[in-house]
Amino acid sequence: FYLSNSSWLRHSGLAGMDSVGDTLQRLRETFSAGRTRPAEFRATQLEGLGRFLRDNKQLLQEALARDLRKGTQLDRAFIRKEPFGLVLIIVPWNYPLNLTLVPLVGALAAGNCVVLKPSEISKNMEQVLAEVLPRYLDQSCFAMVLGGPEETGQLLEHRFDYIFFTGSPRVGRIVMTAAAKHLTPVTLELGGKNPCYVDDNCDPETVANRVAFFRYFNTGQTCVAPDYVLCSPEMQERLLPALQSTIARFFGEDPRSSPNLGRIINDKHFQRLQGLLGCGRVAIGGQSDQSDRYIAPTVLVDVQETEPVMQEEIFGPILPIVNVRSLDEAIDFINRREKPLALYAFSKSSEVVKQVLARTSSGGFCGNDGFMHVSLASLPFGGVGASGMGRYHGKFSFDTFSHHRGCLLRSQGMEKIYSIRYPPYTPRNLRM
Ligand code: NAD
Repeated sequence: FYLSNSSWLRHSGLAGMDSVGDTLQRLRETFSAGRTRPAEFRATQLEGLGRFLRDNKQLLQEALARDLRKGTQLDRAFIRKEPFGLVLIIVPWNYPLNLTLVPLVGALAAGNCVVLKPSEISKNMEQVLAEVLPRYLDQSCFAMVLGGPEETGQLLEHRFDYIFFTGSPRVGRIVMTAAAKHLTPVTLELGGKNPCYVDDNCDPETVANRVAFFRYFNTGQTCVAPDYVLCSPEMQERLLPALQSTIARFFGEDPRSSPNLGRIINDKHFQRLQGLLGCGRVAIGGQSDQSDRYIAPTVLVDVQETEPVMQEEIFGPILPIVNVRSLDEAIDFINRREKPLALYAFSKSSEVVKQVLARTSSGGFCGNDGFMHVSLASLPFGGVGASGMGRYHGKFSFDTFSHHRGCLLRSQGMEKIYSIRYPPYTPRNLRM
């Protein structure tokens, strides 16, 4: 009856295969328009589900009985957090100690055995970790594997109970593909381009201080660094002199001799970044020196969306400014791209900050500052969409490395009551 009734199919949205694409499109449009976000909308849907159960109790019981002969009684239930077992942690080079220790704490705290694969690129830290760290841990629960892509590829052929990967989206896909062969769950802490919206209603000096600090921290080699600024041409005119004086204050007139500015990790990344200096027009900085892997704190303007600096994660001391005419245009710009790991919005108007938060998605968010949200152990840290999956830091680390085992314990008492479950089924026990 139901399947042959075409009006019912249309109404429910469960149309034939031809229009599945249309149905999915319709649902995506609803989601993009923000309809499912207000608490009132969600409450209405849940109330609808409640009414569905109440109004159709008999119909549903009969269907359950016909399909599965099913009825349930719940006792006291609890979640038991158990270690997964053997965990693999793969680490990138940019914060080689922090990104080793923070996941390791979570994995060990939850009771797992760990294989640690540090980055071969931060080779000095790799060597120190390999030599020293094992002395501090029980060798029966901890091992390190050293090497680059080839060795990591071989390691990934083995079966693990959990893989925690921090690194690029490209390698994240390789890790997830390898994990899928064993149905191994993964956390992927990836990177991407983190937008930084600067509203006209801002104090340019404050914004310049905060954006420059977080952009040039660790020479820009930070996964949550503001990757590019979105602002109006008018704000750009006010921001540029402020950035110029901030950079001079932070790093002096010759940043190259500043003890507060680091260097690019290796020649490959230096050359990649030097290529990006050719995008748009250099407004501040732009100097580089291969012999020292030095790149000056740089600001680019007149940048086209299609240029490499707006296509790839910059991961260096280069800050492009892209002009938008309005808040709506900025939000559109952000939403047309992959979901970033972090998103920043600067405005003296809390309404503007709230709008950016409410109408976009990102792993994390900070209003009127850089990546301070990452430093709080009370907040989960992780990506969404192309910037990753899963979360950690603080208690979230423990939970990430634990299997949440749903348990129900029942005594042998009250068998008379429970016996209602057992066949043979009669109209009387079906009614109950
Ligand atoms: P990467 O992906 O190149 O390397 C990460 C790890 O994967 C290293 O240990 C490396 O040896 C291994 N690896 C590299 N190629 C591999 C391959 N083909 N097969 C298997 N393993 C391979 O990343 P990276 O250059 O070390 O780090 C930079 C990236 O990491 C950036 O994209 C940055 O945004 C991201 N990152 C993310 C976070 C986060 O917390 N989300 C933190 C730091 C860095």
